[in-house]
Amino acid sequence: MQKTDVLVVGAGAVGSMALWQLSKREGLDVVGIEQYGRVHSHGSYAGESRVFRTAVHEGGTYVRMIQRSRDLWRELERDSGRDIYAEVGCLSIAPKGFADLEVALGTVREFDLPHRVFTTEDLRVEYPQHLVNDGDVALFDEHGGGLRPEVAVMSALDVAEQNGAKLFFNTAVIDIEEREQGVVVRTTQGTWLADTVVMASGSWSTRLRPELKELLRLQVLGLTWFMPREPEAFVPERFPAFLRDVGSVHFFGAPSFDGYSFKACTNPEWPVFRDVSEVPTHHTREELIRIGQRASELFAGINPEPVRESVHHCAYTPDRLPVVDSTGRVVTIAGLSGHGFKFVPQLGEWAAQLVLGEEHSVDPRFALAEHMKRLAELGPYTGGGH
Ligand SMILES: Cc1cc2nc3c(=O)[nH]c(=O)nc-3n(C[C@H](O)[C@H](O)[C@H](O)COP(=O)(O)OP(=O)(O)OC[C@H]3O[C@@H](n4cnc5c(N)ncnc54)[C@H](O)[C@@H]3O)c2cc1C
Repeated sequence: MQKTDVLVVGAGAVGSMALWQLSKREGLDVVGIEQYGRVHSHGSYAGESRVFRTAVHEGGTYVRMIQRSRDLWRELERDSGRDIYAEVGCLSIAPKGFADLEVALGTVREFDLPHRVFTTEDLRVEYPQHLVNDGDVALFDEHGGGLRPEVAVMSALDVAEQNGAKLFFNTAVIDIEEREQGVVVRTTQGTWLADTVVMASGSWSTRLRPELKELLRLQVLGLTWFMPREPEAFVPERFPAFLRDVGSVHFFGAPSFDGYSFKACTNPEWPVFRDVSEVPTHHTREELIRIGQRASELFAGINPEPVRESVHHCAYTPDRLPVVDSTGRVVTIAGLSGHGFKFVPQLGEWAAQLVLGEEHSVDPRFALAEHMKRLAELGPYTGGGH
């Protein structure tokens, strides 16, 4: 049996950040185990871009985590020499008085976040790419923008490895068992004994941690990209990341990173699932036609056929608060609920602090026992993202 101080299960969004943070600690043996290869297309981080915004609806809970993450995204860019965070701003467009927009406006004022407010007329002048309705207004979050998740995961893993972490790919963890002398981790390529384990296995978490089965559900999130007739109007310098609410339809997206298409997505009514194996892997033709029709009502001069599409999954908790838990020798981070990519660097830092018993600022509501207490009181899963 091989031995290590810390073993991280999963080298996706959370796992890569935990490995990066742990690898910075002198004298600590750090191992990462990933069931697929280095940066793959099966995880919840796949899909070219993620919306980053500080003006979140649930301000009090997330703003400090996001601000810390913003600093860490910049540090990772410096350490890796790669571009991860395109700070092009994020536009939230909705009818004046729309509840989520009002809450986000409250957040920017409470935390004094840099922002601008646009009237319908301002929007038509500044962002003609968006076909807005009379009465639509917008909040522009200046620190918002687009993150490049595959580049981020690659960067964190590369820096961790340069710092001495040992990473094993195409190796699945079969089970973990806590014993007095450490945690026994059985994998498809042998067995490890670790002083501490960080569980960062995303949508697969319930397979290895049965105690999460009642709490987590998998939600499906689809991505679609469209070709505009004038691609130069959708480049990052001219077209910020965005959220749009029109009636009951919610769209989100990012500028063009490939020079010919931009991301604009909305989610059909998909059921929730319990295991990754049950999740659909593509949109149906009808879903793509409907999304294309809606998109052409919202964006100027686009071809309604999505030029690219993909369907993903993410583990949700009922109230969308993440699980950040340290019990015995196991730290568990899960349930990022469709909006957690923006703050994974903070989660990685917390993972390292929890492993080493250091001071940390984890919200006590994120502990598993607290989630379980709330579970009975909360209603059905609500879905959503970003
Ligand atoms: C389509 C979509 C759009 C999103 N948009 C946004 C957005 O705009 N902004 C935002 O902030 N967030 C967004 N999110 C949420 C965010 O991307 C996810 O919450 C985040 O990536 C989850 O990270 P994770 O580390 O928990 O899971 P993952 O990134 O999936 O990582 C889990 C890893 O563990 C590995 N693993 C699992 N089981 C094992 C095992 N037994 N052995 C070894 N390895 C294992 C997996 O292979 C995987 O690599 C979105 C999510 C999706 C799906």
